[in-house]
Amino acid sequence: MFDAASACSDIPAALSLGTSGSEPIPPRVDVAVIGGGPSGATVATLLAMAGRSVAVFERDHFPRFHVGESLIPECYWTLGRLDMLGKMRASGFTEKHSVQFVNERGDLSAPFYFADHKKHESSRTWQVTRREFDVLMLDNAREKGARVFEGTRVLEGTFAGSRATGLRVQREGGTEQTVAADVVVDASGQSAMISARLGTRQWDQELKKAAVWSYWKAAERGEGKDEGATTVLQLDQKQGWFWYIPLPDDVVSVGVVADNDYLLKDRANRDPEVIYQEEIARCPGLGPRLAGAERVQPVRVAKEYSYRASDVAGDGWVLVGDAFGFLDPLYSSGILLALRSGEVAADAIDAALAAGDTSAERLGTWGPEFIRGMDRMKRLVIEFYDGLNFGKLVKRNPDLQGVVTDLLIGDLFNDRVDAIVGPLDELRAEMAAASTASGC
Ligand SMILES: Cc1cc2nc3c(=O)[nH]c(=O)nc-3n(C[C@H](O)[C@H](O)[C@H](O)COP(=O)(O)OP(=O)(O)OC[C@H]3O[C@@H](n4cnc5c(N)ncnc54)[C@H](O)[C@@H]3O)c2cc1C
Repeated sequence: MFDAASACSDIPAALSLGTSGSEPIPPRVDVAVIGGGPSGATVATLLAMAGRSVAVFERDHFPRFHVGESLIPECYWTLGRLDMLGKMRASGFTEKHSVQFVNERGDLSAPFYFADHKKHESSRTWQVTRREFDVLMLDNAREKGARVFEGTRVLEGTFAGSRATGLRVQREGGTEQTVAADVVVDASGQSAMISARLGTRQWDQELKKAAVWSYWKAAERGEGKDEGATTVLQLDQKQGWFWYIPLPDDVVSVGVVADNDYLLKDRANRDPEVIYQEEIARCPGLGPRLAGAERVQPVRVAKEYSYRASDVAGDGWVLVGDAFGFLDPLYSSGILLALRSGEVAADAIDAALAAGDTSAERLGTWGPEFIRGMDRMKRLVIEFYDGLNFGKLVKRNPDLQGVVTDLLIGDLFNDRVDAIVGPLDELRAEMAAASTASGC
């Protein structure tokens, strides 16, 4: 395991199977994928395993930095289909068995252990350094037969009318080339190339958040099973919250999330370094955890990152992962949704190719169920920011304990969990009535 704080160039060459630097770009493939992050690697792996010719075009050279380090238990099932579980077990990534919460006064809740809910190997998940995880995923795609071209930027999708026909790509220092494809998959992350081009990206009006974060060495971490716990810590006036994610090599990822205006706009001093220090000082639970720790990376910023495209697919094209939409860092659902959309999209693409029908209807069959799952997670995110007390909800409806847990581990694609909707609506109505009565 190498140091999460070191530069990308320190990564041992043996970790990557190579960049396909000299391999010629094929003029035509069944499926062309924009981006080699977790969602692109998932689609590419599964389609290559199904015998399809797949090319992935990734503008960067891996390993590269990426935020988003905490997995949740339900990632297990897609990782299993990808044949990634052995690699994850052998990876040395920090094992994550639980989450815990620290309130605005600095009081720590008891850890919530996933295995108490489900006695299955899936209840042990991981905190990953993305530079390593993404290499493992992309190398796995290569092993399964996908052709991966790193250092190759997609300039644009090519279209005949509304039908996608391929990609225009360019290698570093090289000439532009066109690749024809029956299906184009946009896995370009927050670049969201296709929905940006079509004007179908819709910014979330309820979640206008931002994040400011960095990495620390020798910060406090638990012992044994608790070493890899994610901790969510409230700011003193509940203006926002910090994530505290223990990574390998004694590094901890520590970041604050709050309304974009509060965190970045309405500040006397907008220097991210200053903002970060000010917010750390406002988080009673954090000071003791960072005492004696050393910051080992610059402060990074991400803003207004919550959006969704209006469609998951069109004629000859499909959107997966962040290229379709992103919710919020709370509950760490990003990689789960990237893996899951990559998996169900791959199945739909394979079936569409077999049927010789790559219409929007065929390619987007997975959309409604996936969006229902994403909306279930979104509801929990919104309720957290609106101050809903999940403890109160479960105390009042003990039978919902399992449902709340299912949602938090990422078991989102199941109508059973909608049992929570009625009781949530009731509690919300009560909160609204109480706040009207108190004149707030
Ligand atoms: C502040 C913050 C904290 C987060 N924390 C978590 C967390 O703890 N847990 C979690 O699960 N998720 C987290 N996420 C979300 C997570 O990072 C993403 O959901 C996840 O990376 C999505 O994977 P992806 O493959 O769709 O996109 P990405 O991982 O972004 O991959 C997209 C790839 O496409 C490439 N690309 C883009 N444009 C082009 C182009 N023109 N040509 C070629 N290649 C291109 C990029 O270089 C990149 O490698 C967080 C997000 C934010 C903003």
